[in-house]
Amino acid sequence: MESGWLTSGPNVRKFESRFAKTVGVEHAVAVNSCTAALHVALAACGVGPGDDVIVPTMTFAATAEVVVHLGAAPILVDVDPDTLSIDPNLAAEAITDRTRAIIPVHYGGHPADLSQILDIATSAEMFVIEDAAHAFPASYQGSPIGGIGDVTCFSFYATKTITTGEGGMITTSDAGLASTMRSLSLHGLSDDAWSRHSPGAAWDYAIVRAGYKYNLTDMAAALGLSQLDRAIEFRDQRAAIADQYDDQFAGVPEIRPLVVRDRAGHAWHLYVIRLATDGLTIDRNQFIQVLNAEGIGTSVHYRPLHLHPYYSERIDQSKRYPHATRAFAEIISLPIFPGMTETMVDRVASTVVDIAVNHRR
Ligand SMILES: *Cc1c(COP(=O)(O)O)cnc(C)c1O
Repeated sequence: MESGWLTSGPNVRKFESRFAKTVGVEHAVAVNSCTAALHVALAACGVGPGDDVIVPTMTFAATAEVVVHLGAAPILVDVDPDTLSIDPNLAAEAITDRTRAIIPVHYGGHPADLSQILDIATSAEMFVIEDAAHAFPASYQGSPIGGIGDVTCFSFYATKTITTGEGGMITTSDAGLASTMRSLSLHGLSDDAWSRHSPGAAWDYAIVRAGYKYNLTDMAAALGLSQLDRAIEFRDQRAAIADQYDDQFAGVPEIRPLVVRDRAGHAWHLYVIRLATDGLTIDRNQFIQVLNAEGIGTSVHYRPLHLHPYYSERIDQSKRYPHATRAFAEIISLPIFPGMTETMVDRVASTVVDIAVNHRR
């Protein structure tokens, strides 16, 4: 605050370049949310009316709403039941000559099946825009998430793996896309405002497209820089919590953690279990109520998009989403955060196991 830079300034620049270096990519553009990131990414890729964009149904509203805002149609696709990320084979079946892009979501921080998705996208000539809101820091087959698809979008929302309160980052190795996205994120200016606002810069500017007001503040970027320093430490703490949960759930057939694929560098934003509800006398909602009564707060990520009124009224009713529908009835996201002690994890895990054992069919 003492620097005098409240809106985008030198900290934003520093945050962008350090983030780009961290994920090993040429360009990073800071924005004020991941939703904004997805919006400008799609716009920069030329998505507009008449286009289709493939989106997994098991995601947060943001992934699909930005497609709608550009006048294009989100085409919902079912997920892999093991990881709850988009099923590449079903994505391939959803391609038409209107398909412009696919938005794989790295559900929970576990990378989606990118090699198959990239293959499909190359043959269909469509863009791969990764929703990596959960996936920092994460890697796929040894490469950091952020430098793999055409564009990758990260979130620094309050609950995400690193946070600036509200914030987001877009990464790409394509200089043209980077410059268009930077321009779109600040009113469609021809050059970025930071150079215009630097001492001695010219007062003049040119608007070259209809843009948005999506820039990150310097205060948020200052938070981002300090969070970035601790990202690995935070991730390692979450990974240790996940290990402890895995150990405590081993041998309890009613509790099934999601599958972690070989060579998936998991960010562990979420730790999600599936309940084998056939073997229990209570359903998922009742299970959550019992946990609540024990003082353990949990969540469900997500009610799939096809089960929300807005999307269910608009999708092709002949399409079915059996994996996501089934998963929705079984999933619970357990607490996982840096600072969660072994004792806390043990209390959550043993309570979950006790509830399962006490409600065996
Ligand atoms: C949080 C989230 C977003 C949106 O991030 P914001 O920074 O809050 O805009 C998008 N997609 C997924 C999967 C998310 O979890």
